[in-house]
Amino acid sequence: MTRERIYLFDTTLRDGAQAEGVDFGVEDKRVIAQALDRLGVDYVEGGWPGANPGDTAFFEDVPKLENATLTSFGMTRRPGRSAANDPGLVPVLDADVKAVCLFGKTWDFHVKVALGVDTDEGLLLIADSVAAVVARGREALFDAEHFFDGYKANPEFALACLDAAMEAGARWVILCDTNGGTMPEEIERIVETVAKRIPPTHLGIHCHNDTENAVANTLAGVRAGARMVQGTLNGLGERCGNANLVSLIPTLVLKPGYADRFVTGVTRESLHHLTPASRLVDELLNRAPNRHAPYVGASAFAHKGGVHASAVEKDPRSYEHVPPEWVGNQRHILVSDQSGRANVLARLREIGIEVDAANPKVNRLLAAVKKREFEGYSYESAEASFEIMARRALGEVPDYFDVESFRVMVERRHNAKGELITVSEATVKIVVDGKRIMSAGEGNGPVNALDKALRKDLGKYSAYLDELRLVDYKVRILSQGTGAVTRVLIESADARGNRWFTVGVSPNIVDASFDALIDSFTYKLFHDGAPAARIAAE
Ligand SMILES: [Zn+2]
Repeated sequence: MTRERIYLFDTTLRDGAQAEGVDFGVEDKRVIAQALDRLGVDYVEGGWPGANPGDTAFFEDVPKLENATLTSFGMTRRPGRSAANDPGLVPVLDADVKAVCLFGKTWDFHVKVALGVDTDEGLLLIADSVAAVVARGREALFDAEHFFDGYKANPEFALACLDAAMEAGARWVILCDTNGGTMPEEIERIVETVAKRIPPTHLGIHCHNDTENAVANTLAGVRAGARMVQGTLNGLGERCGNANLVSLIPTLVLKPGYADRFVTGVTRESLHHLTPASRLVDELLNRAPNRHAPYVGASAFAHKGGVHASAVEKDPRSYEHVPPEWVGNQRHILVSDQSGRANVLARLREIGIEVDAANPKVNRLLAAVKKREFEGYSYESAEASFEIMARRALGEVPDYFDVESFRVMVERRHNAKGELITVSEATVKIVVDGKRIMSAGEGNGPVNALDKALRKDLGKYSAYLDELRLVDYKVRILSQGTGAVTRVLIESADARGNRWFTVGVSPNIVDASFDALIDSFTYKLFHDGAPAARIAAE
């Protein structure tokens, strides 16, 4: 049976950029467009030229893409203006692209209220604008805004809008659930009806996630006939987001019922680029990736508990719906309170340490894990601290430097302008290669000040830590034993895109942070192969 082609249309750089806190620079946009191209996405919507300086700059020097079609976005012409004379539309039509996607109103209520014209003129706006795209030799896509709400209110008009676009030469009409409130069964029923009128090979679906159904709605649209899927990386988008391509793509490529009926530009091979593409977007937005994201999250293939971990060791299919490497992700065996021997051995293997099961050091390590977890350490989310502890127990981690002492001072006062400020100052005494170094640092908080003081001079190790960044810092107060204990989790990253988590526990928050910080530095030095004089005697 020949499989039908599904076209993937990414709008991370346009609809995704509508999300709160998202502000892509021109360079970010180029890098994301190239990652989408590598993955095998068919269309990359770059933004709305003329609408803001960033989008305009992006289209002035468009990135070279191997396979993907770069697309500009805009709105159908304004009432009372010709397409060629509409200052909002002209830069969209003139952009250096092969395809143009225009949105237009297909809900009669919006046409009357927002545009202030009658439905006949509404149709004319669509037809003229699409015709203008075609006249410039560009592929025309028509995003039918509010289509599902419009269809429910006035099906004749909503369908007439699609006809107007098709008759004017649109390659695609895309049914948009703009408000995101439509249910999967409604989507399926309505798309089925539309597919009797518009050939499925010209029909697309664009869903928003306001009822957490954007992915389900998109799949319902595909089952009912839509052959173009629009969405964003990580489901980025205004309000609750858009349909998440990072979940949709592997589902279409791997899952029976889709994989045997359809083929996409993303192949089984290029699917390996999925996890890196998802993490890249978070990296550029300086956000910690969602550990629990389907397919690509750090926890998506994480196994906790002795029984699960040993079953996965025997056959991963026991607790995994697809192999993690297919989507560019990795399996994680978590070490936790419930951890058994199999768990610890599997975890060691995962970080590249081969130990004989009979090695007495394994029992020592297991005992150490249990003891520290009882104290409040949590290695499930702090793999780097686990690795450092394990390698220490096995005698692999050198003592790069000794911290003789540290002192932190926190001061709240009025500055010269009379503003109330809080400043922290830290002093550390470190010994590197037998040489004593004393440094001071100032920061907006005690941990920041300590970090600065430590890094100011670590002798020959300073260069290794230059590119290390602290990305996230989480504090949790645990009630355990006699008093409250603080657990600090630090996420660090380097310039090569590596990320690692470390943990520190102490009754004192600064002390706990300090331990997590030192683990992070040690992890970085160890993995960069920094030279050290001696191995810890532990
Ligand atoms: Zn949208």
